[in-house]
Amino acid sequence: MSRLSTETDTVGAVEDRRLSGLHRVALPIGVNAVETVNMHVLADGDTVTLVDCGVWRPDLPDGGLAAVEDGLEAAGYALRDVARIVVTHAHIDHYGLAGRLMEVTGAELTMHTLTDLDCEKYRHPDTARARRRDTYADHGVSEEERTDLADHLTRWLPYLHSVVEASRRLRGGEELVIGGDRWEVLHTPGHSLGHVCLWSSTRGVLLSGDHLLPGITPPVSFERGFDADPLRSYLASLRLIADLRPALVLPGHGRPFGDAAGRIEAILRNKIRRLEAIRRAICERPSTVTELADRLVAKAVLAHQRQLAISETLAHIAYLRWSGLVERRTRPDGVYEWYSTGDGALEVSTVLGGR
Ligand SMILES: [Zn+2]
Ligand SMILES: [Zn+2]
Repeated sequence: MSRLSTETDTVGAVEDRRLSGLHRVALPIGVNAVETVNMHVLADGDTVTLVDCGVWRPDLPDGGLAAVEDGLEAAGYALRDVARIVVTHAHIDHYGLAGRLMEVTGAELTMHTLTDLDCEKYRHPDTARARRRDTYADHGVSEEERTDLADHLTRWLPYLHSVVEASRRLRGGEELVIGGDRWEVLHTPGHSLGHVCLWSSTRGVLLSGDHLLPGITPPVSFERGFDADPLRSYLASLRLIADLRPALVLPGHGRPFGDAAGRIEAILRNKIRRLEAIRRAICERPSTVTELADRLVAKAVLAHQRQLAISETLAHIAYLRWSGLVERRTRPDGVYEWYSTGDGALEVSTVLGGR
């Protein structure tokens, strides 16, 4: 059960060149419906760089290290060879084991400087939970449901070995030389404020983390104290990737895929459809975020899905608000209600560009 699933991807000759010295290891997760996360092993002379590293597993005697070791072995390396860990973003499925791996290997940890915000949240989970409860109260979530929803973080925290900050902080625009290849660091906020992708123009390969995923539209959540308009950041980050025209995308979850432009188009359509649905609903009648989430997303869902539905609705409303299309007022019971302020066009055209 603790064994990992090392998947070898079948690829042609061109793909072989793109992927030489690069291995994907699907590490088991099994928390909040996340089945696996991809750890990428990048050969760097005698050492390796890992991109993302999975979770700490308190339920296993090895804490989850054995799965990492097996993956390294399949790539021809051992734990002691790990010299650098690049974390695309500090969500626990990508970052939970980093502290333990640093202890064991002495590797440096490379992350975007804005992952400091996630680290602060993990260091002070009570503050983070209280802030979430306040947000939910302001937006009309019932008292019984509030605590359950705010416990999203509680469900993940056991899988975080320790809160480690970056030993090398990125800001975007840097070049990491790995195995003689240059990988450009792209800051791609949206799914997470401190999210980075790694891009090799010579290979045409993008390590996309959770910014671009096969099959699902990456969630974009609003969280107080983070990005005031995360959906706008996300759409701009998508445009950045579309302009690079990657030939191959290696995502944080699932299998590699080729049609980056098609994926981006599908994700954009999805987000825009939801923006329009929320705007229409607010035009019909002023509504709270909870009412909108109930109307637009199936109601009978699990706590982590409902939490996501509300946080995503908040992100979409923030976008509409900063576009000047909706505004909020406080109802007598203290709950925010959103109303329409204009019938101007949704300015997604700037994001879609000429495409
Ligand atoms: Zn994530
Ligand atoms: Zn993830």
